Amino acid sequence: MLRKCPICELNYIHNGETMCRTCAAERSRRNLPKIEDEIIMCSECGENPALPGRDLCEECLKEQKRQANLEILADKVRADEADDPLEEDITEDASEED
Ligand SMILES: [Zn+2]
Ligand SMILES: [Zn+2]
Repeated sequence: MLRKCPICELNYIHNGETMCRTCAAERSRRNLPKIEDEIIMCSECGENPALPGRDLCEECLKEQKRQANLEILADKVRADEADDPLEEDITEDASEED
């Protein structure tokens, strides 16, 4: 069974191999650590591995989204409070006429 090299995603590697020969050569040339040592930990909690391409783990990303939503909600509430309260009365009057 062949699968794609997780590093370059171009070359195919055999099961049990961590990277293709090109990447292996490149790594030994640059003296980089093994792929196992390269798991990036979440920069927020530092307990879970970060998602690929992110610096946060799934849990922290969820939390970040939740916080972002809360902020959007808070902004909405602030915007509503900033509205002229008379506007609501006008709307009510209009519906009574209907
Ligand atoms: Zn590769
Ligand atoms: Zn985290």
